[in-house]
Amino acid sequence: MGLGRFGRALALELVGEETEVLGIDERAEVVQELSGSLTHVVRADATKEEVLRQLAVHEFDRAVVAIGSDLEASILTASLLISFGIRDVWAKATSEAHGRILAQLGVHHVVHPEHDMGQRVAHLVRGRMLDYVEFEDDFALVKTSPPEGVVGLALGDSGVRTRHGVTVVAVKRPGEGFTYATADTVLEAGDTIIVAGGTRQAERFSELA
Ligand code: ADP
Repeated sequence: MGLGRFGRALALELVGEETEVLGIDERAEVVQELSGSLTHVVRADATKEEVLRQLAVHEFDRAVVAIGSDLEASILTASLLISFGIRDVWAKATSEAHGRILAQLGVHHVVHPEHDMGQRVAHLVRGRMLDYVEFEDDFALVKTSPPEGVVGLALGDSGVRTRHGVTVVAVKRPGEGFTYATADTVLEAGDTIIVAGGTRQAERFSELA
């Protein structure tokens, strides 16, 4: 429900293989643009119960409310989906208060894409990381280059874990894909690595690169 920038990217990523995606948006141009790319695209007002029932939305396993800027429409739509008993309802929130209301309605997964992406980019801007995913508040996976001190040594002998508090979990040689790192893996300059560890430690490690 809602095929703005977020909903559109989500729907296009979901469609394919064995996932059928019904996209709903009230704007004709959006519906026209996406027809042919999703399983079904319908121009409709997602806040209307009879409209959603006609589209058999209540029979879907999962639903995503990707309406952000129209708070009222987001809340009404989410509330209908919950009342249908859909077992997995996701919704995007544009503010903390919006997210709180969605959670109070019983939305199972509330996401804050702009807030979360802002935080993520802050870590990328600050450090020398190529990519970064944080789990909970204090554990992260970081894609970076190996610092000089660990190049040319087998990981088992490099003391990465004891000296830096991080574990190298995967390595990618130029032009190749990622493979698991083992104690015998010898890192080379030009490799890309993925390290796991406490957020601060992983960030500090990437700054040595
Ligand atoms: P984004 O930031 O991802 O672009 P927006 O909130 O700007 O998100 O876009 C939300 C989309 O949801 C728009 O395409 C808009 O037409 C659609 N939308 C808003 N209200 C309704 C509604 N009641 N029913 C269906 N679609 C809606």
